[in-house]
Amino acid sequence: MGQIINGKEVALKIKDEIKEFVAARKEKKLAAPKIASILVGNDGGSIYYMSSQEKVATSLGVEFLKVTLSESCNAEEVINEIHKLNEDNSVQGIILQLPLPDKFDEKKIIKEISPNKDIDCLTFESQGKLYMGEPRFLPCTPNSVVTLIKSLNIDITGKNVVVLGRSNIVGKPVAQLLLNENATVTICHSKTKNLKEVCKSADILVVAIGKPKFIDESYVNENSVVIDVGTSSFEGKITGDVDFDKVIDKCSLLTPVPGGVGALTTTLLIKNACEALKENEY
Ligand code: NAP
Repeated sequence: MGQIINGKEVALKIKDEIKEFVAARKEKKLAAPKIASILVGNDGGSIYYMSSQEKVATSLGVEFLKVTLSESCNAEEVINEIHKLNEDNSVQGIILQLPLPDKFDEKKIIKEISPNKDIDCLTFESQGKLYMGEPRFLPCTPNSVVTLIKSLNIDITGKNVVVLGRSNIVGKPVAQLLLNENATVTICHSKTKNLKEVCKSADILVVAIGKPKFIDESYVNENSVVIDVGTSSFEGKITGDVDFDKVIDKCSLLTPVPGGVGALTTTLLIKNACEALKENEY
């Protein structure tokens, strides 16, 4: 039977570091880190993520400013809010909740976020730096994947890693971060041939396709470390891309959903805001 990788446990250690950082600032009568989150419209997923980010941030003593705009607002209004936050010295990190309503050109709006406050690594500049090997902030979900693997004391160097999915938010940056760790990385997508065989040959399989329970036991081997990034709503529950019950007995290590990658993502986002504050002041 494979072992379960506990994202909550890994997050707890990082949360303790953040709490210590905030407490030390308080003792010196310095301001707590502050994150601003912009929500445009009523996307259910975005409302859920924003409220869970707020909960985690405030539980760690980090300020969380919510900026909500109605779906009927225009691009200029969203950009004005971003500019205000860019100029607000009390704010270290800006989160733009995605997706924006369909009428907006997301790329055009994202590029207005100051790269110095782009704690989720969304802008062209932040992503360019990442691919040039000089990231300012590590993108949170991909960083969560790498942090979980490292927490297992697995030496990533030379490992055959298969990343299933090639989105700009997850697949490509995960592959880049693992390449930076000297893995041999194969990126697969919907047009990949012999997908099962490629996945089965991996030492580490990272799955981010948004297809609930897509990966069954035929995609893994007994030594596979399987990281499930997927979070789809399926039969009323948040469900991963890996069929947990079928795979756990046939692999070496597996992240659950929920309680795996997602359990760490928000904490890493908040950690980025703390890093920004440290860099700004010292
Ligand atoms: P996305 O933009 O829809 O990209 C999906 C990728 O999967 C695409 O590259 C697509 O290939 C590939 N794909 C889809 N069906 C496939 C199939 N049958 N075989 C092989 N490849 C297939 O999704 P995303 O934004 O990367 O998100 C992926 C999942 O991660 C979602 O469930 C999302 O909710 C979740 N997520 C979780 C977190 C977290 O913190 N846990 C954060 C972000 C996202 P093509 O490029 O060929 O179309």
